[in-house]
Amino acid sequence: MTRIEDILSPDSLGFDPQQLTERYRLERERRVRTDAEAQFLEVSNESAFANKYLAEDPYSETVQRDPIKDESEVIIVGGGWVGMMTAARLTEAGIDNVRIVESAADFGGTWYWNRYPGAQCDIESYSYLPLLEETGYIPKLRYSYAPEIYEHAQRIGHHFDLYKNAVFQTWVTEARWLEEEDRWLVKTNRGDEMRTRYVCLGTGPANRPRLPGIPGVESFKGHSFHTCRWDYDYTGGGPEGGLEKLSDKKVAIIGTGATAVQCVPFLGASAKQLYVFQRTPSSVDARNNRETDAQWAASLEPGWQAERQKRFGEAILGLAMYPEFKDDGWTRLTQNLQAMLAKAEGLPMDQMGDVVQLADFQTMESIRSRVDEAIENPEVADKLKAFYNQFCKRPTFNDEFLATFNRPNVELVDVSDSKGVEQITEKGIVANGVEYEVDCIIYASGFEITSSYQRRMGIPIFGVDGESIYDHWDEGMRTMHGLMTRGFPNLFLAGGLFVFQLGANYCYGVDVQAKQVAYAISALNERGVLSANVSEAAEQRWIDDQLSDESSGAQLVLGGSSENCTPGYYNQEGTAKRYRDVRLESYGKGLGAYRRVLDQWREDGQLDGLELKT
Ligand code: NDP
Repeated sequence: MTRIEDILSPDSLGFDPQQLTERYRLERERRVRTDAEAQFLEVSNESAFANKYLAEDPYSETVQRDPIKDESEVIIVGGGWVGMMTAARLTEAGIDNVRIVESAADFGGTWYWNRYPGAQCDIESYSYLPLLEETGYIPKLRYSYAPEIYEHAQRIGHHFDLYKNAVFQTWVTEARWLEEEDRWLVKTNRGDEMRTRYVCLGTGPANRPRLPGIPGVESFKGHSFHTCRWDYDYTGGGPEGGLEKLSDKKVAIIGTGATAVQCVPFLGASAKQLYVFQRTPSSVDARNNRETDAQWAASLEPGWQAERQKRFGEAILGLAMYPEFKDDGWTRLTQNLQAMLAKAEGLPMDQMGDVVQLADFQTMESIRSRVDEAIENPEVADKLKAFYNQFCKRPTFNDEFLATFNRPNVELVDVSDSKGVEQITEKGIVANGVEYEVDCIIYASGFEITSSYQRRMGIPIFGVDGESIYDHWDEGMRTMHGLMTRGFPNLFLAGGLFVFQLGANYCYGVDVQAKQVAYAISALNERGVLSANVSEAAEQRWIDDQLSDESSGAQLVLGGSSENCTPGYYNQEGTAKRYRDVRLESYGKGLGAYRRVLDQWREDGQLDGLELKT
């Protein structure tokens, strides 16, 4: 029988798997906090301190308007990709009385708010940017920067005429099902009372910034902002950098996730002094960006984007490899895995997990070696190395971040021993017993991605008999297809709370759902349905499917939400499954399988699982 030890010995691998296993365990233990998600401060409209990080819009003046009291066919909450793509697919299906309600002053969602210097999409633009063929646009770069992406959101808005009914700078404060009218009543902070037959919640997974609940966080007397509300009035410059007003400022940035990796090089280039407070290093792989080849763009055939998105998904999962993705960092792990599996032919199935782990070690070893190549000071280099499986955290790709730490004006402050920054004072930040006095603190502390449903969505939603959706989901998210939930007729959830396991390209998954919502609403209208409610059996069937061994087995492939991972939002800060079953929020068999389930449901044409009132 083939033995894994014979095929893949430490000598041939170039690393010792046992030592790495132990190091990963220790690094995780150093960071797990008993307060888990409770360590973060809720950023809400209610708290005067936190409100400035959420409600204030540094990019636009507030426009006054009268309250709206009218009726629409569909109200979509959120004007980011989910809302726009759902509205676009509804428009294509002939439903155009669609209103998007959005808190920002324009479309774009995350790309409206995230204008920090260097903001860039980490997925290749040809697969990520939605509706490229529909709008006739080809991105300028392989990996687009935020301004181009934001501009594309506006392009979609104009192309599908979404501006005509849109309501901006407006927060939905309540959605309530009116049983006797078969309508939803949507109330907002502008005094609006809008009735609608259908509501789609397109609030997205990263719409609420989060702040670390560091002792003293409210006491700092200098300037501060969150990366998703970048204050260019204070820093000077723009998304391309040139933050000239920082030339006499001492700046601290808290966090070293995907956002910080992109903006730290620009801060390092401009600030008089930059302190980067790091609890867990990111894995930072090469970016390999380049301009779009005009000849290639001209050669594209109709249907190219859907095909490319499908191929990208397959390449990430190692189901197939295409030349165009060979030098894309997202496929590094699966390429290593394929190479190892080729060597390990004949290996018993029960040892496959070991090979996956070895491929992960190998991938991370090469990413760690990039740190040694880039960093002059070996002590700093060691602190910047990520010791966990690649998909425990969102991998990052950047060619300037690491070298920034060679600058004399940039200091890496490791706060892993204290499991985060110890304290914030009137003057600055305390870490490892030292007070770092600064003029400005920038929070690159991420978003409410896995906190409670209520906290993330932030909208009271009441269904049949006035039941709160959050009570219905008390023990975890209950849905059919991640899209409809019992007791909340004519309500669609898209691309927000329910995520697509094993699919890094968010927009592709969103489109799968957007098409489903558009189909469902058209089909309900064609049948003259007043309200559609998910049956108890259908909801339970979906839950059983999600919890089945087959489904959870697939989730193990890349181990992203594993309890063995370093803490982060993927595993509810290291406590995954302790509070609620995260599997209810994703489809573990992957996006391809999810798409096939929805395709089949549409093909059947029976609106299976829905109780219909006509
Ligand atoms: P993350 O949640 O990934 O990172 C937050 C950072 O703050 C982490 O480094 C975290 O450390 C740190 N932090 C939190 N609390 C403390 C504390 N008390 N003391 C010190 N450090 C602390 O947020 P990001 O904004 O970086 O990224 C969020 C997500 O947004 C990404 O994962 C990605 O999905 C998306 N994104 C996508 C991009 C793209 O290119 N498409 C670009 C940027 C972001 P620790 O890790 O130890 O918790």
